[in-house]
Amino acid sequence: MFNQLSDKLEGVFKNLRGQGKLSERNIKDAMTEVRLALLEADVDYSVARDFISSVRDEAMGEKVLKSVTPGQQIVKIFRDKLAELLGGDQAPLELTPPARILMVGLNGAGKTTTSAKLALRLKKEGRRPLLVACDLFRPAAIDQLETLAREIDVPVFTPDRDEKNVIKVAKQALKWAETQNGTVMIFDTAGRQEIDDALIRELEDLQKFLQAKEVLLVADSATGQQAVNVAKRFDEAVGISGIVLTKLDGDARGGAALSMRSVTGKPIKFSGVGEKIADFEAFVPDRLADRMLG
Ligand code: GDP
Repeated sequence: MFNQLSDKLEGVFKNLRGQGKLSERNIKDAMTEVRLALLEADVDYSVARDFISSVRDEAMGEKVLKSVTPGQQIVKIFRDKLAELLGGDQAPLELTPPARILMVGLNGAGKTTTSAKLALRLKKEGRRPLLVACDLFRPAAIDQLETLAREIDVPVFTPDRDEKNVIKVAKQALKWAETQNGTVMIFDTAGRQEIDDALIRELEDLQKFLQAKEVLLVADSATGQQAVNVAKRFDEAVGISGIVLTKLDGDARGGAALSMRSVTGKPIKFSGVGEKIADFEAFVPDRLADRMLG
């Protein structure tokens, strides 16, 4: 992930750094190259355009042009704006009691896996997570969550396999939770191949009942711009508090990560970086910006 983009950026900036004095022309040309590299990485068109114009405006300032190391200054401007684009500071989870996290997203995005990954992470932080299987649409999801929960030794609530009423399941789960001594509940919900009215209605009802302070959208970064559009639609429909971007370990070009915050206005809180339960990281914009610049 990001390798190709990183290589391209490195090339452009090496060239800028190598020149003693920079003209406006040099900067303009470099920024055109960077913009193309961003578009190739599948960054949203208007995000790339606005981002580049803000870097260019600052880079064209007297302070940079007259400095003895203009190339270096431009790299710094770029890096800081990149971290800002990725979301600035790392966004924490809202876990004041009753701490409830609703995991939503399309089928195959990684919801069930991510529910377990998040549970393990919270457990390692000293919290007592409880998992709840609320995906009644894909019956195998219940077994999958049960297996993962066993693997990480986290209590899990599973409904009857033929139960279809998600509110009923949520009610049973809250009752069950009273006996579990947990401190945070994670609800794995149903997805679809595409967002449809039935799914939205189900999630709205569930959220109305649970009033979860965290609604995390699990989005597959390998689907590029589609992931960003999906995030926007879920947010409009049910209101999300943050995003988990999965499959960042794959060879996706990375544009989704760069456009997500700017297009949705919601922070990326975590990233999935592999199939194993431990392959899960807090999303730290600063660190990622550094990594992308090599
Ligand atoms: P759900 O339908 O949204 O619940 O998706 P699942 O949790 O069943 O995940 C779908 C597939 O994606 C599974 O094969 C997971 O192992 C895989 N997966 C989930 N997250 C990641 C990730 O961060 N990296 C990789 N490589 N695979 C992932």
